[in-house]
Amino acid sequence: MKVAVIGSGGREHTLAWSLVRSPEVSHCYCLPGNGGTAGLPKTVNVAIAVDQLGEICEFCQTEKIDLVVVGPELPLTLGLTDQLQALGIKVFGPTKAGAELEASKSWTKQLLVEAGVPTAFGETFTNPEPAQAYATKMGAPIVVKADGLAAGKGVIVAQTLAEATTAIAELFDQGFAKIVVEEFLPGEEVSVLALCDGKTVIPLLPAQDHKRIGEGDQGLNTGGMGAYCPAPIAPPAVIDQVQKQILQPTANALAKRGIDYRGVLYAGLMVSSTGEIKVLEYNCRFGDPETQAVLPLLATPLEKVLMACVDQTLGQLEPLQWHAGSAVCVVVAAGGYPGSYRKGDEIGGLAEAKAQDVTVFHAGTELKEGKVLTNGGRVLGVTALGEDLSTAIATVYRGVEQITFDGMYYRRDIGHKAL
Ligand code: ATP
Repeated sequence: MKVAVIGSGGREHTLAWSLVRSPEVSHCYCLPGNGGTAGLPKTVNVAIAVDQLGEICEFCQTEKIDLVVVGPELPLTLGLTDQLQALGIKVFGPTKAGAELEASKSWTKQLLVEAGVPTAFGETFTNPEPAQAYATKMGAPIVVKADGLAAGKGVIVAQTLAEATTAIAELFDQGFAKIVVEEFLPGEEVSVLALCDGKTVIPLLPAQDHKRIGEGDQGLNTGGMGAYCPAPIAPPAVIDQVQKQILQPTANALAKRGIDYRGVLYAGLMVSSTGEIKVLEYNCRFGDPETQAVLPLLATPLEKVLMACVDQTLGQLEPLQWHAGSAVCVVVAAGGYPGSYRKGDEIGGLAEAKAQDVTVFHAGTELKEGKVLTNGGRVLGVTALGEDLSTAIATVYRGVEQITFDGMYYRRDIGHKAL
């Protein structure tokens, strides 16, 4: 079986790494891939960017790819799945219509309200004045969200009305046509990534991400500085509840709108101190870095599961098998990230890290003349498994400590809040 993985981050390295472990997978093409995917068995990087839909389609058709797995949201929102499907190519990842779930917060809010899925109370606005009046009526803290892809920078949790005013003005100034103003939900966040074949939904183990750059969840937001799985805040009984009250009703609501959703339903959830669970957001693809902590625990071959989504046979699949214990992923970033950072520094200690029983997933790296160089803000994701979370944490940091490059930065508290 020939597979193609679209994307170049840590998530895509993890997807390719999981896929090539299966004897069923004979070839894996990463478009464009990174320095880590370049070193995987059975794998070749192909220099086609994720937004070059025509070239991706042509490549997949020429190479007779059996399954395309789309990593990032951008090509999904541009309609890559629709174009591949039109050529008769099997693809894991929703169509453009399905990707609205991530691309438009107002669209999703309406879908959730219609489906009776618990979410923050809020409204959509196309002008600053009524948005401001609504925020004043609701009071702070309040959350202001851009209605469009904003690379993690479109959400402002305003602690005061003054902050909300600024946020509302800035988002309209940036050119967003719509914004959502919604109730602030206190609690603890958890990510539940689920597989959906258009009818059946199967949740994966829950994970928790660390979005802030600084230890103790301080400082600027990032793409994610680490993750662990399973998150004890969502034990199996909670996942059952999420499945019944959130995931399945969402899948049904999508189907009711005529959307044949075959891909990841990623629910970002807030769990209140009384155990109430509400949807903060949906993403239409695997999370990064959650994937680096979730997939290494999955024992069922990934290609089998993804193919079942595409073939709409998820309901006939045997229950997913998981390795016991926990997984932790620590992201190693370039100095200065999430602000400006350097590229092109040589990375050392990768073999030494591996000897510590960790898997090093590459995110922003490039292989040049036999050297692995930094090539992005989030450079590596180091993952360790352990019989429990504290063992996995101890192992992962032994691995991370072996890695060297100029200005490298990582958080030392990944997973600690679950201990
Ligand atoms: P991501 O990078 O996760 O895709 P995003 O830009 O799509 O982010 P959200 O996940 O909707 O945005 O929000 C980002 C963060 O803001 C959340 O992880 C959460 O910490 C906070 N947040 C969002 N909505 C609320 C809310 N209603 N109440 C409290 N906090 C919220």
